[in-house]
Amino acid sequence: MKIGVPKEIKNNENRVGMTPSGVFELTKNNHTVYIQSDAGFGSGFFNEDYQEAGAVILETIEEVYSASDMIVKVKEPITEEYNLIKPDQVVFTYFHFASSEELTKAMINSKAICIAYETVEDSHGALPLLIPMSEVAGRMSIQQGAKYLEKPIKGRGVLLGGVPGVPPGKVLVLGAGIVGIQAAKMAAGLGAHVTIMDINMKQLRYVNDVMPNHVVTEFSSEYNIRKRIKESDLIIGGVLIKGAKAPKLITRDMLKDMRPGTVIVDVAVDQGGCFETTKATTHENPTYIIDDVVHYCVANMPGAVPYTSTVALTNVTLPYVIKLANKGWEKACSIDSSIAKGLNIVKGEIVYKEIAEAFNWET
Ligand code: NAD
Repeated sequence: MKIGVPKEIKNNENRVGMTPSGVFELTKNNHTVYIQSDAGFGSGFFNEDYQEAGAVILETIEEVYSASDMIVKVKEPITEEYNLIKPDQVVFTYFHFASSEELTKAMINSKAICIAYETVEDSHGALPLLIPMSEVAGRMSIQQGAKYLEKPIKGRGVLLGGVPGVPPGKVLVLGAGIVGIQAAKMAAGLGAHVTIMDINMKQLRYVNDVMPNHVVTEFSSEYNIRKRIKESDLIIGGVLIKGAKAPKLITRDMLKDMRPGTVIVDVAVDQGGCFETTKATTHENPTYIIDDVVHYCVANMPGAVPYTSTVALTNVTLPYVIKLANKGWEKACSIDSSIAKGLNIVKGEIVYKEIAEAFNWET
């Protein structure tokens, strides 16, 4: 099969859909891989790296789309790419269709086969192609939180690990899923005192079993949250109720109970955020302050660490890419139900009913 990897053209997107290691595996399986010139530059992979692994470098995005049976990328196609996609071409990427009617209509019109990373689902109901980005965001939340706790950027002036003779900072993590566990692990590694809350006792039991003693679990309730925020230096929001908006666990009135310079990082911002005062920010302008509380609410945190994010993402996408290339999309979907769950739009038809429901369309 001919597989094409275009350079991402969405604003500030530095990730790339395939690393040289992926090219190596695919060419070993007798496939041809076209990489657009400089596609990997933002993630630290150069044309020569791809060529050494066996790729053919093409200069323009038009050439890549036109030469390929399957396109592998990171972000959803943007307007400039709509007309480059061909009927029967497989496009394997994040789409998030429910958030864009324009994109959905464009992909229906393209008659392509759209397989969405975010709906590929394993036999336990987990979403394997979303997990790595939650891992990155969870770990990053502590790195960012620690930075914004510094006084020159309006934080409380607290070093999370403390020093001999000075107790460590206190971190409250809301949600003990992928983001929450990675955040708790990073904070614990820095020596902070960590409280992690969830409503799922299974998750709390797991955290209690695997984390060191300075990570304390507590059931998530309004009473407990109100009590803990008064003493926390850094609060991480990592809750998720699948398919729904995030619950507002920290309301506007709670901010005045926090100490000035407390930092709150709302990782759940992409689901509306779990703090009432959350509004999405960007890497260029990541924070704002309300009632002396520093809010960090960047919606695409992994975008700031494209090398790590690209490798983490492609580690999990590559086995699916290989299967799609070796078997063709129809056979691959018939033998692997997790890929079949990724099918969203096939040759002009929506095959994932939640997308049609999102726009109140008849199916
Ligand atoms: P997850 O499903 O693994 O974990 C969510 C946890 O929240 C679950 O354990 C759940 O029981 C818990 N929860 C639900 N209601 C709660 C409540 N009232 N109190 C405490 N805990 C509660 O999800 P995840 O992969 O960790 O993702 C968390 C959020 O982070 C999602 O909204 C995801 O989209 C987002 N995210 C954002 C970025 C970013 O760049 N900002 C990147 C990756 C993921």
